[in-house]
Amino acid sequence: MESRAHRFKQNAVDSLANPVLQASMKKAKGKFVDKRAIAIKEIDDFEATREAAKRIRNQVIENLDLWLEKFEQTATARGAKVLWAKDGAEICRLVVEIGKQHGVKKAVKSKSMLSEEAGLNLALAAAGIQPVETDLGEYILQINDNEPPSHIIAPVVHKSLDEVADLFHKTHHTPRKTDIPQLTREAREVLREHFLTAEMGISGGNFLIAETGSVALVTNEGNGRMVTTLPRVHVVVTGIEKVIPTLEDLATLMRLLPRSATGQSISNYVSVLTGTKAEGESDGPEHLYFILVDNGRAEVVGSEFQDMLRCIRCGACMNHCPVYQTIGGQAYGWVYPGPMGSVLTPLYTGLENALDLPHAATLCNQCGVVCPVKIPLPELLRKLREKQVERHLRPWFERLAFRLWAWVASRPALYGLGTRFAVRYLEWLADGKGSISRLGLAPEWTQGRNFPAPEGKTFRELYAQRGRNG
Ligand code: SF4
Repeated sequence: MESRAHRFKQNAVDSLANPVLQASMKKAKGKFVDKRAIAIKEIDDFEATREAAKRIRNQVIENLDLWLEKFEQTATARGAKVLWAKDGAEICRLVVEIGKQHGVKKAVKSKSMLSEEAGLNLALAAAGIQPVETDLGEYILQINDNEPPSHIIAPVVHKSLDEVADLFHKTHHTPRKTDIPQLTREAREVLREHFLTAEMGISGGNFLIAETGSVALVTNEGNGRMVTTLPRVHVVVTGIEKVIPTLEDLATLMRLLPRSATGQSISNYVSVLTGTKAEGESDGPEHLYFILVDNGRAEVVGSEFQDMLRCIRCGACMNHCPVYQTIGGQAYGWVYPGPMGSVLTPLYTGLENALDLPHAATLCNQCGVVCPVKIPLPELLRKLREKQVERHLRPWFERLAFRLWAWVASRPALYGLGTRFAVRYLEWLADGKGSISRLGLAPEWTQGRNFPAPEGKTFRELYAQRGRNG
């Protein structure tokens, strides 16, 4: 998928001006947050479970090459083929080659963020293989001219019911309906035909289990199971960081993933798929391929951003992020939105190509508090900002302004004078109205709302006064 992260500011402005998106985001706001808050209370010691999950993920990432080798051995022993892709172009090449080798005309897909990274659907279509998304949200996006997702687990959270109704009516040539169960039934009827006629299924993988060579898939719609068992070829496309040591580790992570993602104690479908169809078995693929993808991940191993590789793609960080909740996911311009995307996109696509993303956060630390594997997201965002300054990637006036700020802030008397002057100036601008509608030097701050006027004295003046009054 081509990154539009360099247009973040304009994307955000467009999102704020989109009334349908704003209404949908407002409607969804808090839904996952409230459910998660209830679901985590079911775990006796939630913090200890988070700590255990962090340990499991760190254990693998610190010796990633060894665990990947172990996974390759066990998966191969169960009849699978393990292939390696260094980037999106290689993913596309390998999947198309597999498709051609097996005479595939149609491929059904369950959600795979890696295939979004690679733009796999376009490559399949160009090679004469029809890709069909079967996750309901992803299907809606596909029939809407391959629109990008706006959330990693709820890809159409930005869309209204009316938009979906129009889309189904136009695409399926059926009477327009706005009843959600009826719309879902219509999608099932359309997709069923595809499940039964596709020769290849493509899925992502929530976890790869090294001791058994299995892939674990966590879904709510059941499409994952159809994609991975009905077609004769199954291709798993997933990142190299998804490997975990044992099934017992999977059990620990599964206590956290659905609760953090959708606030469910357990997802509707948890599949652990191992090897190809054995003699006498009625379902499962005859051919199973794992494409394990680097696409920037290996470079993060051993770096100061390594913690980010623990991510289990639950989406809790974006559900709790005030910036994401306001602008939605498409504004972030690439596959991953919210705080996790603001770290991953610069790391995977280049810091210079996503300059504004590390700044798309208030650093309130809601994301860090809810992350089930304890990724210090605000700290990583701050480190990315530091890297931008070190590499002179910020505009000259911003660098100059920060230098000036540092110079003044290290001179207490001058700093005191400056803040006194600033407070009086802002009070004068507010002109007794309590807020400022136009800030001359920073016009963007007052573009969408008024800036509150300071009330009375500076902090230092109040502190000194308190000292005098005892
Ligand atoms: S960074 Fe943490 S909270 Fe965000 S998606 Fe990844 S695991 Fe979930």
